[in-house]
Amino acid sequence: MSSNKKIADMFNTYVMPTYAPGIALVKGNGAKVWDADGKEYLDFLAGISVLNVGHSHPRVVAAIQKQVQSLTHVSNLYFTENEAILAQKLSAISMGGKCFFANSGAEANEGLIKLARLWGHDEGRYEIICMKNSFHGRTLATAAATGQTKIQKGFEPMPAGFCHAEYNNLDSVKSLINEKTVAVLLEAVQGEGGIIPAEKSFMIGIRKLCDEKNLLMLCDEVQCGMARTGKWFGYQNYDIEPDAFSLAKALGSGYPIGAVVGNKRLANVFQPGKHATTFGGTPLACAAAIATIEVIEEENLLENAKTKGAMFRTGLEEIAKRQDDIQGVRGIGLMLGLVMKGPAKDAVGRIIEAGLLCIATAENVIRFLPPLNITQNDVEHALEIIGKSLKS
Ligand SMILES: *Cc1c(COP(=O)(O)O)cnc(C)c1O
Repeated sequence: MSSNKKIADMFNTYVMPTYAPGIALVKGNGAKVWDADGKEYLDFLAGISVLNVGHSHPRVVAAIQKQVQSLTHVSNLYFTENEAILAQKLSAISMGGKCFFANSGAEANEGLIKLARLWGHDEGRYEIICMKNSFHGRTLATAAATGQTKIQKGFEPMPAGFCHAEYNNLDSVKSLINEKTVAVLLEAVQGEGGIIPAEKSFMIGIRKLCDEKNLLMLCDEVQCGMARTGKWFGYQNYDIEPDAFSLAKALGSGYPIGAVVGNKRLANVFQPGKHATTFGGTPLACAAAIATIEVIEEENLLENAKTKGAMFRTGLEEIAKRQDDIQGVRGIGLMLGLVMKGPAKDAVGRIIEAGLLCIATAENVIRFLPPLNITQNDVEHALEIIGKSLKS
């Protein structure tokens, strides 16, 4: 019996089937991973944009090892230097405000939602306009914010206070504003929705609308943040600033950590006793995140996401041109989707079989989220695998 099969059998006996994995991975290094049978893969999924600096980056490994030996956790009843340093760094690369630390994307978005509600509370405003086709997480409130009924089905009644506008349609957002509206929440590039970037006029229009109507503009940067698009945060591709945004996925390079970053006017809305979490911003989690930010800076990964993204995109476009069953390519930086005319599932299966990890999303999109430090060689190798696997 193969090792993959052994692990799969035990897993399927004891782990609730919320996912349906096919391969057991046992080792990762840079942009490569290995399964339990020893097969090597080029990882163009990177844990769904978690390993933006690659698997087991030595700087991140060293930072975690060093921290785990001195202080892992103390409770937020105490100051810790790492939390302050990380907040300072995030503030410096974004909007100059303050941070709240959580443990996951859903929890960061819950924080964002609670922050907006608390801010609007005295005026009786709580409703958040979200986008159709969006994804914000699997807790009840973030599932309610998510604009996909399949995420909500079976869990009704959903928490109140969320409505959904058409993405990239400003009139649709306008038509949902009422006296209860407190914020607009959106992804600069919809990830689970199929790698759909916001149009520039839409992002700028939302910012203006929020200013006019005294609403908060909230961005979910969980997937498109942390240099994925060639900017620190997806919204920075649009020359606007939201009032607050959420982070998670790549922030800790695989060590769980989420964050809410708010601008100056939201900096002191949360007061002691209003919001909390035991594990938020531990010295260990923050050490992983600080190292991640330093690697992105020192290895110039914003630039690499742009140049390798452009290179990969050109290659995907060439493949798309040759193939009748491909509609085109979408995305920004190294957040790219190959849009098929039909379901993408079988094609993804063939690509993985040929040694490249990626994922189908929104039925007909093949989503690629490689580590941001991939080399030209990795890109060429990936394109070769994709080209061969898709040949009809
Ligand atoms: C993954 C994701 C989330 C949820 O993050 P979890 O850590 O899985 O809770 C929220 N928003 C976006 C845009 C995501 O991609």
